[in-house]
Amino acid sequence: MDAQTLKKLREWFKKNAAELPWRPADLDAPRDPYAVWISETMLQQTQVSTVRDYFIRWMKRFPNIETLAKASEEEVFRYWQGLGYYSRARNILKTAKQLVSDCHDPCKGSRNDKRGERKAALPSTRKELEALPGIGAYTAGAILSLAYHQREAILDGNLVRIFSRLYALDFLPTESRDAAEIYWNYAREVVDSPKAYMHNEALMELGRTVCKVKNPDCINCPLRSSCCAALENRTTEFPPSKKHIQKDWHGTVLVIESADHKILAVHGGQKFFKNQFTLPHFESPRNATAGLPAQAEHYIDADKVQSVENIGKFRHSITVHKMECYVLYIRLNGKAPAPTSSEIMWVKRGQAQDFFASSFCLKALSFLEKT
Ligand code: SF4
Repeated sequence: MDAQTLKKLREWFKKNAAELPWRPADLDAPRDPYAVWISETMLQQTQVSTVRDYFIRWMKRFPNIETLAKASEEEVFRYWQGLGYYSRARNILKTAKQLVSDCHDPCKGSRNDKRGERKAALPSTRKELEALPGIGAYTAGAILSLAYHQREAILDGNLVRIFSRLYALDFLPTESRDAAEIYWNYAREVVDSPKAYMHNEALMELGRTVCKVKNPDCINCPLRSSCCAALENRTTEFPPSKKHIQKDWHGTVLVIESADHKILAVHGGQKFFKNQFTLPHFESPRNATAGLPAQAEHYIDADKVQSVENIGKFRHSITVHKMECYVLYIRLNGKAPAPTSSEIMWVKRGQAQDFFASSFCLKALSFLEKT
């Protein structure tokens, strides 16, 4: 998401942020980590309108970790009754007890209050948070972002829906590790800027109130001008339903090598790797491309091509796509030209294996070893 879109998102949020008991009036103020933890845990699988009263009652009875840690399980369950998923309440109590016990261990984390007394506190690193009972990637991200104002990505159902529509992603993050990584990359992009905490919260609110599951209110959405699904009038297609069928994809991967043994890497504009450098690739007919494909001329001058050779074929799965790819090796008769944009890079052949992280590229490069 570019800076302009993020600015629109922040402006929208400042005007439209609902008053919630766990949200201070000053949207820039860091939150109480304990309140973020409790509210975000209650909000898992439960509507905001239901959680509101539960949260108020809870915070009156258990205003901090110490008070909570002294409570019995029966009492905690009474305050949770009606929210369901009681394992969440049990884990909250377990974590509170653990934090209080850690507080008295001089080797472990705690905070001093105004009088200098040690106080139980939620840790401020993802690793420590995720080691606590019941705190997963999402809750840890919310605590780090909203309470500690760290540039931490979060990904919940609201953000998944928004990203799927915004970038026309026809797969879900639950489908594979690659699929999850694509969603997390978009989530990280959102927090790669000042006010990251506000972007996360604004997207959650947008998903809840505007980019809803049914009938998204695109007319009033601050992301409309950059939303693929809205611009193409296809909001009902995203996110796809869980029962998604595998799709066949036939394509060509280009391994372009200069005379001084550098391989071309490209960034952006690629179907499967939008946020990283990759080998150029494009959809092509089922049989191998003959000669220099027009897509290659996007990156290199046809006059500088010494040879074009089909060096192999491999299969690969990414998200819902079952891919069959031809590898076209293009040798240039001159040195690697100076890149004309930041989207292009020439990588020394000897370093290519380390540079290209995806197994998709590594499979294509393996044929190069045999040439
Ligand atoms: S424009 Fe519509 S579909 Fe796109 S993010 Fe906004 S509400 Fe969702």
